Amino acid sequence: MRHALVIGSGFAGLTAAASLARKGFRVTVLEKNSQPGGRARTWSEAGFTFDMGPSFYWMPEVFERYFASVGERVEDHYQLVRLDPSYSVVFGPGEKWALPADPLALRAFFDSKEKGAGAQLDRFLAEAKVKYDLGMGELVYRPSLSWGEYMHPGLIGGLLKTNVFRSLRKHVQGHFTDAKLRLLMEFPVLFLGASPQNTPALYSLMNYADMELGTWYPMGGMGKVVDAFVRVAEKNGVEVRCNANVRRIVVENGRAVGVETERGVERADLVVAGADYHHVDQQLLSEEHRGYTERYWDKRTMAPSGLLFYLGFDRELPDLDHHTLFFDESLDQHSAEIYDNPTWPSKPLFYTSCASKTDPSVAPKGKENMVILIPIAPGLTDEESTRERYYHMVMERLGKHLGFDPRPHVVVKRSYSIKDLQADYNAYRGNAYGMANTILQTGPLRPSMKSRKVQGLYYTGQLTVPGPGVPPAIISGQVVADLIEKELGSNTATPTPKVSAHSA
Ligand SMILES: Cc1cc2nc3c(=O)[nH]c(=O)nc-3n(C[C@H](O)[C@H](O)[C@H](O)COP(=O)(O)OP(=O)(O)OC[C@H]3O[C@@H](n4cnc5c(N)ncnc54)[C@H](O)[C@@H]3O)c2cc1C
Repeated sequence: MRHALVIGSGFAGLTAAASLARKGFRVTVLEKNSQPGGRARTWSEAGFTFDMGPSFYWMPEVFERYFASVGERVEDHYQLVRLDPSYSVVFGPGEKWALPADPLALRAFFDSKEKGAGAQLDRFLAEAKVKYDLGMGELVYRPSLSWGEYMHPGLIGGLLKTNVFRSLRKHVQGHFTDAKLRLLMEFPVLFLGASPQNTPALYSLMNYADMELGTWYPMGGMGKVVDAFVRVAEKNGVEVRCNANVRRIVVENGRAVGVETERGVERADLVVAGADYHHVDQQLLSEEHRGYTERYWDKRTMAPSGLLFYLGFDRELPDLDHHTLFFDESLDQHSAEIYDNPTWPSKPLFYTSCASKTDPSVAPKGKENMVILIPIAPGLTDEESTRERYYHMVMERLGKHLGFDPRPHVVVKRSYSIKDLQADYNAYRGNAYGMANTILQTGPLRPSMKSRKVQGLYYTGQLTVPGPGVPPAIISGQVVADLIEKELGSNTATPTPKVSAHSA
């Protein structure tokens, strides 16, 4: 049985591992941290549980499709609830928009903000659906090793029918005039790690995911989803080994033959790197085996980093929903301070997630948990005093919204930012969610899933295709496993190796 070593137990690594195991490989996942899940780990303290990273569960069918591919069903592993409102947006004191989950209520809501906006929304989402179907059906489940993969009439015809290449901002402006409605329509692409003016209108498919497919919550938190991914992997024979920091990929005669950890060299037939691509490329490989130069990486637009606070309150917090976006300052100024002139933001937008609004298991009774996320430019100098300054800035704005100062009610407090992301995940410049999906960083223009220099070395995760976010990480894991099967053959079929295999 051929042996695959997977570096990292994020969603991409776990998905790749289970998918390879289903194809007949013996698979070991090596994770540097004591807990699996990567950026989606949880942290618990004094009866409060916090999702440390992702909190928006979008595109549920991506999870379903993966579970089906490994012979499982989501509903046998965790319970999903659809949030209603999907999320709320605070535009200023006393001005909160709660986005209804129900399509008819949503259209009526748009009409109440701008005459005819409900019908415009229908048009916008109908086109977004075409892109979503095309994107999720034709584009995204491909390794994107070359443009040739996209050259077929169905796809090109479909793309030509929609507005793909102009900026998402222009696309939104073509449909709505109200400034706040426009902001609402621009918000989902922030998940892609780029500003609306630099994101192709192809990604209005994210609006379809947001408004039609909905925002969901796995009861117990994202940690339950990680548990399910680990369970499914282990059920298929994968060994998930934590506290296993990979220091080096061992390459012999141009081929990956194993990795070195504290336990010494572990040999394998192939290596799948699910850790941050930059870390693997620049730190785990010697110079002659690197696919890219440090200069190449310097020029990439990374998705933002974040300053996060995990807070437990000794009381419930009124006037907040499960997800609340504070868009009470300028998005453009904040974006410019992330992308154009990277600096600590002067008046940041921020986001709060109180999962305890939906889930009594994540906070003691009568209390509230909250994660605050302030997007910031990656690579900034991250100091305790700066974190504290932003804590008070945000708490004051929150206080204005709540009508009281929440600070005396904080009983658990932890901050998390660039330095932690670097230390915990080897995140390049402390990025939170990988490399942005800009026009020039989409598909084959992203770092390649297959090593350009080393045979038997593959990459998966948010810095390669298709991009940032949990659903793309899952897709990335499935696609890399399919690519490996295509290149090496499965263990259950007659192998058709393109390279000679080593045994462990
Ligand atoms: C604060 C925050 C909020 C987010 N919000 C959302 C959201 O709401 N919705 C959404 O869909 N997405 C969200 N994301 C993005 C999402 O979490 C990621 O895109 C996704 O989890 C990435 O998965 P991955 O497997 O590619 O990488 P990771 O989760 O980073 O996994 C990589 C793993 O490799 C390990 N590793 C690194 N180096 C080594 C080494 N040398 N040896 C062994 N192991 C190593 C790391 O410890 C890590 O466990 C958010 C991310 C953050 C940080």
